[in-house]
Amino acid sequence: MINPQIPVRPAYFQDQFGRSKRKLRISVTDRCNFKCVYCMPEHPEWMKKHQLLSFEALLQFCQLMVEQGIQHIRITGGEPLMRQGVVHFIRDLQPLRQLGLARISMTTNGHYLSRYAQELKQAGLDDLNISLDSLDPQQFFTLTQKQLQPVLDGIQAAQQAHLPIKLNSVLIKGINDDQMVPLLQWSKARQIALRFIEFMPLDGDGHWSAAHVVTEQEILQRLSQHFPVEAIHSQGANPAREYRVDGHPVGIISTISHAFCGQCDRLRLSAQGELYNCLFAEQPVPLKVLIEQLQTHTAPVAREQLLQQLQSYIWQKKAGFHAIHSQATTTAGSTRKISMYMIGG
Ligand code: SAM
Ligand code: SF4
Repeated sequence: MINPQIPVRPAYFQDQFGRSKRKLRISVTDRCNFKCVYCMPEHPEWMKKHQLLSFEALLQFCQLMVEQGIQHIRITGGEPLMRQGVVHFIRDLQPLRQLGLARISMTTNGHYLSRYAQELKQAGLDDLNISLDSLDPQQFFTLTQKQLQPVLDGIQAAQQAHLPIKLNSVLIKGINDDQMVPLLQWSKARQIALRFIEFMPLDGDGHWSAAHVVTEQEILQRLSQHFPVEAIHSQGANPAREYRVDGHPVGIISTISHAFCGQCDRLRLSAQGELYNCLFAEQPVPLKVLIEQLQTHTAPVAREQLLQQLQSYIWQKKAGFHAIHSQATTTAGSTRKISMYMIGG
């Protein structure tokens, strides 16, 4: 969290709509042990090991980004706990707090958390988002091709390690939209904040259709049949719209029905060093070569080139999801093949 003794750095990166960049999401691997229907393709082609940025190179990049005003780093994937060395990486990020890094988070499917929760806490992780789309073991298996119990054990381990948690639930019509009420009751009983995420067109095999999306309005309608629902109007750069349902904090990330792009302050780096100025960007900027040069004798030149490329690419960030999506669907031959497991969500 923000340390009052460390002055907040000005945000160096701004886009053409005046949105400053304060958050960086880093995918440390595209690999995953789950096969979520809304994310992973049937036949994923994993990146090769040599294509991944090393943690040493990533650390240099993180330092440069924090010096330019990034305050929050989120580690994601694929499944970040599948990349060996990720706990050490979190430990190695700690000195960046002196430069203005205020928060280090992780998004995980929770499967390996029983093993790692305590180590992550000790390494200095601030908080976790854990994906949990169903409390029904059979339905969970249909959604992910994995067992539910290790995830529930992982959530418990994270709580025992005193890591603050949010649960992320993607709802798909006709598949797990019956889970809204059980998830609310379950998370409330354990005092874990819950966020519903509208299904986005970022699934690996491109089967998304608007008919599968459970919208914010539908979620609120269903929940209000069972519980009192109170809106908390504080979106800002937060992608979720916040509510209290039966007194419990519930966020809804309604990218499809209410895109939150107006104040987006995020950047995303893929595991192979491609920067995306938006989750839906048609083209990333490939930075791996320059990032790797930050560790060599040509570092000062690489640093200048990186800053130039970053500034110019970030400046071009489009208005948001609706602008990009409508362009992609009206332009014949949109070539974007990237899906959530490659870019990190
Ligand atoms: N494997 C980790 C996990 O599942 O939490 C981290 C990576 S995952 C890509 C990050 C987040 O993206 C998860 O909360 C997941 O539910 C969400 N996600 C994946 N595909 C999605 C889609 N098509 N629409 C909406 N959210 C999606
Ligand atoms: Fe893996 Fe996360 Fe994608 Fe599920 S959402 S397949 S857990 S990367």
